[in-house]
Amino acid sequence: MLNTKHLTQYHTRSGWNALLPPRAPRDQKPANTRFASIVIGAGYTGLAAARRTAELESAKEVLVLNASEIGEGPSGRNSGFASIFPSKPTANEYGSADDDAIRKVRISMAGQEWLRLLIREHNIDCDWDEESLRINAAATPEGAVAAGDWLQSLRRWGFNCRVLNDEERVAQLGTDYYSTAFDVRPRALVQPAALIRGLAGSLPANVTLLERTLVTRVEGNGPFKVHSTKGSFTADRLFIANNGQARDLGILPDRTVTILTYAALTPRLDVDELTKLGAAPIWGMTPINSMGMTMRKLKDRFLVRSMSSYGRETDPKTVREELTRLYRNRYPRMSSHEFEYVWGGAMAFSGNGGFYFGEARPGIFGAVGCNATGVVKGTIHGKLLAELACGSQSELLTDRLRQTGPNWLPPEPFRGIGAMSRIAWLRHKAGREY
Ligand SMILES: Cc1cc2nc3c(=O)[nH]c(=O)nc-3n(C[C@H](O)[C@H](O)[C@H](O)COP(=O)(O)OP(=O)(O)OC[C@H]3O[C@@H](n4cnc5c(N)ncnc54)[C@H](O)[C@@H]3O)c2cc1C
Repeated sequence: MLNTKHLTQYHTRSGWNALLPPRAPRDQKPANTRFASIVIGAGYTGLAAARRTAELESAKEVLVLNASEIGEGPSGRNSGFASIFPSKPTANEYGSADDDAIRKVRISMAGQEWLRLLIREHNIDCDWDEESLRINAAATPEGAVAAGDWLQSLRRWGFNCRVLNDEERVAQLGTDYYSTAFDVRPRALVQPAALIRGLAGSLPANVTLLERTLVTRVEGNGPFKVHSTKGSFTADRLFIANNGQARDLGILPDRTVTILTYAALTPRLDVDELTKLGAAPIWGMTPINSMGMTMRKLKDRFLVRSMSSYGRETDPKTVREELTRLYRNRYPRMSSHEFEYVWGGAMAFSGNGGFYFGEARPGIFGAVGCNATGVVKGTIHGKLLAELACGSQSELLTDRLRQTGPNWLPPEPFRGIGAMSRIAWLRHKAGREY
């Protein structure tokens, strides 16, 4: 079994969170130990579930328990693409793969809209940006074919895509490493640690947030007793929003694998250095190949994200060396600085791209496994999960319930062997895309 504690305490701080002013975590145990609902996990999913439950049941109290400090969990460690691309559209009894994709995009767009609204309503200062270039790129002939297919699909699903010609691609990205690139709308980029801090700081008054509190065990069939490193709490309803670590609590043990990925930020760069990173002042790029490198040019720094490991964090020295190598492959002229921050974070993946959503057991609701796209998807799934639990109905919820869930995965050691072999194979196949 994986060690949950290990995956909630990382080797290094999130670079995004380190850029923000110090913040005092809310880690004092509340006097009250009885709540209507308890949410386990305060990432995008958990905070959205808590906020929406508190809105719908304004006379009842909600407790959120989070192992890490806000900003230091994966929700503050990601690359900040508030992406609404559908993951693995699948034909099922409700329609074709395109129908599924369109439903998924509609759900994610509602998530993006809700985030936009919350940011505005609560003045969350998180560099939310829907204007800067949001590029998809490929570096090999096979990648170019995949990019062409992806572009056609995105257009069918209602996205507005613009192909960059050779000159523009090299000028905007500041590198000739890539052979194909296109820009997509709608899009949004964000400073993820600032966003999650802002969401945590603007919860309704009937939500209590308790950070640095690891849930170790859940007992009972309702009311539920939740044991944690800060004592025990009781609630009639539980929300499981601790992503891949849900299975360490015995919930959904056979649906997800935990994959870590890694990011790095340069120090503040001067204008000359920034100019070498492309003409556009700010841009974000995700690779067509899932093993490729995500990159963001920020107003004064550069971010890269790449590498994967199964269930265990790779040591920071190895990560730094590998990310530096991949960065310099793309930008040979950027050799005057080391990365200032290097970090990793955990994500939950399923075998078939499905994302668990629903009532796992009577009274226990879960939204788990939103892969590498949890900024928006975690947010909207947390919101819809609260609506499901509170008995609200909507077209979006109906759409969500029409998605195929994650398939069964074999137990360890087969699960780990399968995941590690797949990572090694995909990396080998990626070639220059990696
Ligand atoms: C380097 C990196 C780059 C990424 N880039 C992007 C991106 O650009 N766009 C995007 O949309 N997504 C990206 N992701 C994925 C994204 O971060 C996740 O999908 C998202 O954080 C999932 O949100 P969540 O709320 O479901 O879970 P999490 O953010 O993982 O939150 C779960 C919380 O539960 C807590 N927890 C775990 N176990 C327990 C327990 N037993 N008791 C109490 N608390 C517990 C954890 O401390 C954590 O705070 C990236 C991830 C990484 C690591």
